[in-house]
Amino acid sequence: MKEQIEKLSKQFEAELTSAQSTKDLDLLKVKYLGRKGPIQSLMSSLRDSDPTERPLLGKIINELKTTIQSQIESHHERLESVELTSKLEGEKLDVTLPGKCRHLGRKHPLTQMLDEVIDILMEMGFTVEYSPEIETEYYNYGGLNYPEDHPARDMQDTFYLDAETLLRSHTTNIQQHIMENATPPIRIISPGKCYRNETITARSHVFFHQVDALYIDENVTFADLLATQEAFYQKLFNEKIEIRVRPSYFPFVEPGMEVDIRCTACAGNGCAICKHTGWLEVCGAGMVHPRVLKEGGINPERYAGYAWGMGIERLFMLRYGVSDIRLFTENDTRFLRQFPSLSK
Ligand SMILES: [Zn+2]
Repeated sequence: MKEQIEKLSKQFEAELTSAQSTKDLDLLKVKYLGRKGPIQSLMSSLRDSDPTERPLLGKIINELKTTIQSQIESHHERLESVELTSKLEGEKLDVTLPGKCRHLGRKHPLTQMLDEVIDILMEMGFTVEYSPEIETEYYNYGGLNYPEDHPARDMQDTFYLDAETLLRSHTTNIQQHIMENATPPIRIISPGKCYRNETITARSHVFFHQVDALYIDENVTFADLLATQEAFYQKLFNEKIEIRVRPSYFPFVEPGMEVDIRCTACAGNGCAICKHTGWLEVCGAGMVHPRVLKEGGINPERYAGYAWGMGIERLFMLRYGVSDIRLFTENDTRFLRQFPSLSK
């Protein structure tokens, strides 16, 4: 048995010398000191040995066990520090490498545009009021002088929820809500989302944003409307603006008109944005129809008002030359990141 122990000791020495890593040592430890290892089996075979030699043999085996343990430990320590050093050397920090860029969240370009429009109009004395997105037919159409058989009421244009309720097709639905609860002077704007049952194309979408303005007081004239519009678009486009109006029809105004501004991209010379007309159509407007005032309990003999509504997507597209309205809702960050800070 002594020979066996001697042989085992030599074998261990040899294997220890050839161990190159802490991983090798871990394997070695399991191999020699594990429950199925040679030390354990030597201990087990002590039972069959000569009882007189047993204490001495036991002592020798225990010594070998202790030696193996301590040698593995000391080698482990040494190899560990070697491994750490080589790991650190391999992981040199290159401070010249570019950092990882984390993009901050920001407001959607349309929200920024909406904020900007609201800011300008608030500076001009308007207050902000919000109308319901789910609306009755009365506030969206009937109260605004839309005849019963007006084509805009048709299922093709409007999302009806049931016979009486619908998704508002314009933020003009604010008008009767306001007139019911306030007396002139009324000077409000109504921003928000509108819904129309249209085919989605580069130019139209099933939902879009509008800002409606309403001003009712004594002696409000058409000239007030034109002057306010000119001042507003001048501020929005940050340059001298020339406007022109064309007669148009909206049931809730009389007279009704569409407003164009001289193209800000080509100064009126003609370009792709203005379709070579030199003018950009920016909104629908007019003097509040006397029937609408009357419906809201306001005496049209004493008071007059103007109203105008504009599409935020359209204004944005005109200002930045965006040619497809679908870009706003496709969530393509390559598009969205081009407009980092519109608002002041
Ligand atoms: Zn142009």
